[in-house]
Amino acid sequence: MNVNILGSPSKYIQGRDVLERAGTYLAPYGERILLLADRDVLPLVKDKLQKGTVDTGTELCFAIFSGESTEEEVERVIKLAEEKNCGAIAGCGGGKTIDAAKAAGCKGNFKTIVIPTAASTDAPCSSLAVMYSGEGEWLYDFFLKQNPDLVLADTQIIASAPVRLLVSGIGDAFATFYEARACRNAYADNMFQGKGTNASFALAALCRDILLEDGYRAKQAAENNCVTKALENVIEANIYLSGVGFESNGCAIAHGIYNGFTRLKKGSYLHGECVAFGTLVQLIAENVPAAELEQVYTFFERVGLPTSLAELGLSLTEEELAAAAQASSDIGISHNMPFDVDQDILRDAILAADFIGRSRKEEEKS
Ligand SMILES: [Zn+2]
Repeated sequence: MNVNILGSPSKYIQGRDVLERAGTYLAPYGERILLLADRDVLPLVKDKLQKGTVDTGTELCFAIFSGESTEEEVERVIKLAEEKNCGAIAGCGGGKTIDAAKAAGCKGNFKTIVIPTAASTDAPCSSLAVMYSGEGEWLYDFFLKQNPDLVLADTQIIASAPVRLLVSGIGDAFATFYEARACRNAYADNMFQGKGTNASFALAALCRDILLEDGYRAKQAAENNCVTKALENVIEANIYLSGVGFESNGCAIAHGIYNGFTRLKKGSYLHGECVAFGTLVQLIAENVPAAELEQVYTFFERVGLPTSLAELGLSLTEEELAAAAQASSDIGISHNMPFDVDQDILRDAILAADFIGRSRKEEEKS
């Protein structure tokens, strides 16, 4: 369909210690708000949130996240919010907590608020919630009626999160531009069954430019728990530009590889780490100019993103590799490319991406 659509959260607020002023920002969404966080995250935010809401009349009801974004968990959260008569559900933490909170907000007709404690995925701003089985296997993407009403990003909290999460978020965000470009060239739909707007494509390009410029410095800042301008730029790229960028432009092979690889139930990687490797696979399948491929490998090596299967904790037999390629090819977004994609193309691109990644590291050593 020849329609251009851009979706975005209604409000995005980012700054140092914004949770200490949370009441001011949360007040428009209800007198009582259910705040979903897991056992590790809650102690990191509770004091700040209580301090930030003490004088504002907004009451926070804390609920502990079960650990997986499953249909059962979503139903449980809706029930809790109904019992406590909450006006909004806030998901506080990483991708899965956020996804469960967003799905519950949508299904239960609550306002939806996202408080990311790490810049590790593009989940906070999107209207998509990933649903998993109880064992953590990707089941399906749940498309919400709308994007979150509010995203509240406290950069001091995010600066204190494990650095691997930030780097993984960089991997996830870095794919945005390349997938946007593929969708644009293929005239493929974005996540709203429309085409990207000029603004959404510009956001994707800005996302890549910020990461190339500030990605490494942001990592250094996070290693020292410092909020620098570079880190703030990368947080905005990882959370906002990537979230709006992927949804309003569309995904392609990079995320198709991630979705396919999770079916193997092998390896040890975070979402963005696998998406980064998927980006290499996509660029090789596209046969982009050598200088561009070189730029991406160099950037990944510098910030510490995986460029080989071994770095994803994967050593695959021929059958497993074929299964991964088949599973990735079965994912619809893998075909949002300006050429035909099949499992042979994906298998060989996976092998080539892995070989180049390993060879570069061996050359570096010698
Ligand atoms: Zn992603």
